[in-house]
Amino acid sequence: MKGFAMLSIGKTGWIEKERPVCGPTDAICRPIALAPCTSDVHTVWAGAIGDRHELILGHEAVGEIVEIGSLVKDFKVGDRVLITAITPDWNSLAAQDGYAMHSGGLLSGWKFSNFKDGVFAEYFHVNDADGNLALLPEGMDLASACMLADMVPTGVHGAELADIQFGDKVAVIGIGPVGLMAVAASAIRGASEIFAVGSRPNCVELAKEFGATDVINYHDGDIAEQIMKKTGSVDKVIIAGGTVDTFIQAINMLKPGGKIGNINYLGEGDYVKIPRTQWGCGMGHKQIVGGLMPGGRLRMEKLASLVMTGRLNPSKLITHRFEGLESVEEALMLMKDKPKDLIKPLILL
Ligand code: NDP
Ligand code: ZN
Repeated sequence: MKGFAMLSIGKTGWIEKERPVCGPTDAICRPIALAPCTSDVHTVWAGAIGDRHELILGHEAVGEIVEIGSLVKDFKVGDRVLITAITPDWNSLAAQDGYAMHSGGLLSGWKFSNFKDGVFAEYFHVNDADGNLALLPEGMDLASACMLADMVPTGVHGAELADIQFGDKVAVIGIGPVGLMAVAASAIRGASEIFAVGSRPNCVELAKEFGATDVINYHDGDIAEQIMKKTGSVDKVIIAGGTVDTFIQAINMLKPGGKIGNINYLGEGDYVKIPRTQWGCGMGHKQIVGGLMPGGRLRMEKLASLVMTGRLNPSKLITHRFEGLESVEEALMLMKDKPKDLIKPLILL
């Protein structure tokens, strides 16, 4: 089969591979919708998780099952399915501990385009099909369905990690597709004020639509100063963009007892900086939690129901549309170059 792969750090290309083998609890799917992710960009061009050779890229897909393992209970050949970008081993101690995304070791629930071939191929393999697939709801558009693989669950996880409560004042640093879903999730969870930090005009417009009450442009100066001038310290911060230095601003704008939920994939820099005095010399009760999004069928079904009831419309993230597997290359390059009008590309097959 044909797939679009990371050849080595900084290099991509089309390769031929054997079609993956279906184990008893697995599924083999063909993609019907695909999307590239900023994480693919960190992986290839920043070499953020180390070198990979001839590893097929991509972890955001909607698929049709073409082969199913003999022990899979709830899915059959021909089913059209949602697939989580993170596909943990649900029968693992890490899962029993509540951290399925780290089943098999740190970040090891993230298998596509990390430890095994991803979804930018004619066929791809899904482990633990009963745990990691959900039926595509009748009537759901493929754009929303594809955003349920990663953008929605990751943005929502930002709101979970930051523990957004009714009435909270929240800053969402970064309003690319991930941050935009964090804005929407914060609004759904009852935030009173949401400061969205970003500059691309499309993203700014959509942030307001998803519930941002104010927009802060990081090109206009220190974002902590800008936000605190408007509202004082915030209760919660979600980090969905920026660099290792962004934590300085997040700590500075956070009130004692506040929480920072980081969902940004830190592609570069060896250390994250925490400002000592603003962190209360280590005693400020300012929590920082960073998390890989949880995968899993139940969570995907619940998030899909938010879409089906009209509470969330992630298809609004799509600014560029393509057709055919071969266009994943162009779509990924868009993600790398980030033209001003881009939020998220979608490929239909
Ligand atoms: P984008 O690059 O589209 O968005 C990044 C956002 O951060 C933009 O709004 C950008 O502003 C803003 N930004 C850039 N630099 C700064 C800065 N110095 N200070 C403040 N804001 C800044 O990324 P995505 O939304 O696609 O992804 C966000 C992150 O989430 C990525 O690192 C991605 O890899 C990661 N990710 C994490 C997952 C997880 O499970 N935790 C899963 C999926 C993705 P501007 O408007 O100017 O572009
Ligand atoms: Zn992704």
